[in-house]
Amino acid sequence: MPRIRPIRTEAIVLRQRPLGDADRICVLFSPTRGRIEAVAKGVRKPLSKLAGHVEPLSRGQFGLAQGRNLDVVTDASTLDSWPALHDDMDRMTEALALAELVDRSTDVDVSSRPLYDVLRHSLDELASTKSPRAVRWWFTLRFLDQQGYRPELEGCVRCRSEVGPEGNGFSAADGGVVCPRCHGAGVGRRLSSPVFRLLRYMRRSSCEATAQVNVDADASAELERHLRLSLEQALESRLRSSGFAEALARAEMVGRDATSRVVESEREEQQRAAI
Ligand SMILES: [Zn+2]
Repeated sequence: MPRIRPIRTEAIVLRQRPLGDADRICVLFSPTRGRIEAVAKGVRKPLSKLAGHVEPLSRGQFGLAQGRNLDVVTDASTLDSWPALHDDMDRMTEALALAELVDRSTDVDVSSRPLYDVLRHSLDELASTKSPRAVRWWFTLRFLDQQGYRPELEGCVRCRSEVGPEGNGFSAADGGVVCPRCHGAGVGRRLSSPVFRLLRYMRRSSCEATAQVNVDADASAELERHLRLSLEQALESRLRSSGFAEALARAEMVGRDATSRVVESEREEQQRAAI
């Protein structure tokens, strides 16, 4: 639907890529409009007024006019540039991981205030924390909640019995903790007591408090695995609902070669929007 008037919105710049000789396409995340792709014209030229305000992982106010295909950034001013985040490789790596998750999971023109607030708060914390990975863990739990994949941590996802801290499993496919009996029957991967407690602690605690917890290498590796598998579940389901699976099925029916190019381009498109 054509939009007559330009809009103004606050947004976090998730990433950008070059366009032509002088422009960039910026992927913005707005609390009221979700994911926006907009052209920032002339920002790769010296003396561009826009250039300093469209850097990835900064927060600003943006004026956007409707262009032929994409929106065009008409003006921008920075609200947060998080310099401490940009000066530290570990913090930057984690911040980029958060931005990528949001980029791949957020729709255009969908109000996303809760996820926006969690991202903004996490970037604030990342700029000062001594434990960047813990900020990502905290963010990931909340990201999963907002994707509709809130991991169950109170009762067994298979038999609904209450669980204590010992002997449990974790099944990303079933969406949470598995009691010792069901785990003994082969459901889920081992969920150690420290990681079980940490997951519960992270759910009820602030990002700052989560970043204070000492986590040893084994627990860290185990937690990373459970979170990664949970993210795969959440994002795969999105992939399925996005039409990518239908594109693959069509390719199989018609003959993979004939349609491979179409599917590849659809795959790229869907992956950008969906994974
Ligand atoms: Zn059970």
